[in-house]
Amino acid sequence: MKFLKGTSIYSILTGSCPVCHNESMYKNTSAFAIKNVLGMNERCSHCHTKYSMEPSFFYGAMYVSYGVGIAFGVAAFVISYFFLHLNLLMSYIVIVATIIGCLPIILRLSRNIWINLFMSYDSSKNN
Ligand SMILES: [Zn+2]
Repeated sequence: MKFLKGTSIYSILTGSCPVCHNESMYKNTSAFAIKNVLGMNERCSHCHTKYSMEPSFFYGAMYVSYGVGIAFGVAAFVISYFFLHLNLLMSYIVIVATIIGCLPIILRLSRNIWINLFMSYDSSKNN
């Protein structure tokens, strides 16, 4: 993953600070720590970037999560229906199970994409 450092993809996939890529934005780096999925640090301890730029900043991530959820659902459908040759009902169950099971990942990916729309990597702050 280090080869992506300096690109928005790195910050989106790892949940690291969008400006310096040095540390996780989240208090718990595991997305599956269910009680603390969306628990975020207020600022980056390296570059002091404030993650929540304005009150309720991350509400916008719900628009992104719609698209991310659709992507996960489509992927689950393609795999179950076309590759595993399940019938439509079983494919539907797989889609629902995938979206529910991957909810913590979808939530964090959405926030990471959302914040990376507004902030970009600054190599001068990476030291
Ligand atoms: Zn930072």
